Amino acid sequence: MTEKKWQEYGLETQAIRAGVHRTHEDEHSVPIFMTSSYVFKSAEEAAMRFTGQIPGNVYSRFNNPTVRQFQERLALMEQGESCLAFASGMAAIMAIGMSLLKAGDHVVCSRSVFGNTVLLFQNYFGKFGVSVDFVNLTDLAEWQAAIKPNTRLFFLETPSNPLIEIADIRKIADIAHAADCLLVVDNCFCTPVLQKPLLLGADIIVHSATKYLDGQGRCVGGAVVASNELIEKSIYPYLRTGGATMSAFNAWIFLAGLETLAVRMRAHCENANHLAHWLVEQDFVASVNYPGLTTHPQHELAKQQQTHFGGVLSFELVGGKEQAWRMIDATQMISITANLGDVKTTITHPATTTHGRLSPEARALAGISDGLVRISAGLEDLEDIKLDLLRGLSR
Ligand SMILES: *Cc1c(COP(=O)(O)O)cnc(C)c1O
Repeated sequence: MTEKKWQEYGLETQAIRAGVHRTHEDEHSVPIFMTSSYVFKSAEEAAMRFTGQIPGNVYSRFNNPTVRQFQERLALMEQGESCLAFASGMAAIMAIGMSLLKAGDHVVCSRSVFGNTVLLFQNYFGKFGVSVDFVNLTDLAEWQAAIKPNTRLFFLETPSNPLIEIADIRKIADIAHAADCLLVVDNCFCTPVLQKPLLLGADIIVHSATKYLDGQGRCVGGAVVASNELIEKSIYPYLRTGGATMSAFNAWIFLAGLETLAVRMRAHCENANHLAHWLVEQDFVASVNYPGLTTHPQHELAKQQQTHFGGVLSFELVGGKEQAWRMIDATQMISITANLGDVKTTITHPATTTHGRLSPEARALAGISDGLVRISAGLEDLEDIKLDLLRGLSR
């Protein structure tokens, strides 16, 4: 009987059991390898490991057994060939740019990506001669029109934050590939439980493990999932040299996070979906952005592309900023923070926090109104969450 391959197991099984390499101690739970370096049996073995002629650990900037277990597991869950972990989500995005772009290259990026991603492309890669154009996430014609002879990379996040718009990954991948470009998808909001971008044509997935993969707001980390070729030839050499490594301790936390990811994601989505439908009914709410609502412009696409509608939603309050701040300030349980993907429900006012550095005109263009509130639905009792949201408004 041949052994069943990890690729043939379901995601829930992979999340719990894949990537485990039990040591001679027969431990049941994954150990943390807190070691910076490794020893060799001889000078010859050292030489051969350094040059990669024989496999084996060399130095924890680029090989660590705990980090490797996290990488193996996440690669399987995303149905990708290979994964590399990084010190943060931003370090993972930085690695993609540093390893795949050069001076003179051009990037097309969705306008509604994480703020630091915009700054990284604009202010830092820009300094080294990489240009970037930002386009409307859902407008395929804009993606097509932005292509130049030197375009190398497309970059997007779906769903977007905080308006929760959904991009058609398959169609944007086709546009990218026709122009010989790679498509990078930041899969932080969906995780492999809700969406597998590589199966939809994306070439590279980037993660902020800080959010749902951890799930309890403990560690900062990131990852890149791609083909063996892209990882081995381009991204791994950059990690080895650039050094934005994930620590073994954080990898150990994220491994435990992955074990409960599927049940947590389903519960987050259920709570978000319930809150969205409840908010629609409230007269203090002008509109709700959530793909689980049939009124959402990409409701059908979200149904095809995702297994659930996601754990994050936003809504616009009647009464603008004053009402938004009143609602936020009156909460007693919900955390006022821009973080997301936590078992704790979080609430944020994008116009004065995450998008506060934009000019009022740019904010209006991005659709971030003063009455907009974003919620990352946690796993507390739904009635308690609703009661907490109502506190400031019932006065
Ligand atoms: C948080 C976040 C990042 C950055 O990740 P860090 O781990 O904070 O560096 C990137 N993309 C998205 C969508 C995020 O939410």
